[in-house]
Amino acid sequence: MNKKRQKQIEEIATTTLQKCGCYPMDASELDKNSGIDIKKVISTLGIELMVYDFGENVSGVLIRDGEGAKIGYASHNGPRRQRFTIAHELGHYILGHQRQGIFVDTPEKYFTLFRDHVSSTGEDSQEREANAFAASILMPRNLLIEAATKIYQSGITRNEEFDIVEELAEKFQVSKLAMSIRFTNLDLIW
Ligand SMILES: [Zn+2]
Repeated sequence: MNKKRQKQIEEIATTTLQKCGCYPMDASELDKNSGIDIKKVISTLGIELMVYDFGENVSGVLIRDGEGAKIGYASHNGPRRQRFTIAHELGHYILGHQRQGIFVDTPEKYFTLFRDHVSSTGEDSQEREANAFAASILMPRNLLIEAATKIYQSGITRNEEFDIVEELAEKFQVSKLAMSIRFTNLDLIW
């Protein structure tokens, strides 16, 4: 994905949050450590959300139903992982991804496509876009920079970087993996 598309997806994610009244006023709103209210975004958009017992090979699904949509997420995953799955499926929906049948997302897909490596198929590019959307909506760029700057200014040193990622992951309610990839992609490593 090129930088222009990345930026576009960031903007779409921000607009989606604003439209739903879910964009926090500032990073201190995240101090309660409940992260972006992704479930409120889903319900505001009129999307039906269901938790399923998919078995361990499926993380989430998006089912388009005429004008509407349903998102299902796996009951066996932890809450932070579920949040990412919901945001990923929302990404397919908001970005207007088309595919025969329904989107079925497996754990392998998440981990092999998480990083922005070069890929040849259109399907893979939709997966990368959905991941970029999920990262953008759960960890809005400006809020993340604001939160990271605040922690940094509170006197943290370079070799405590590991803990910063952990603290931010807690604040935004994402996995440490998701936060460290977001950090790398935003060039926030100091
Ligand atoms: Zn997907």
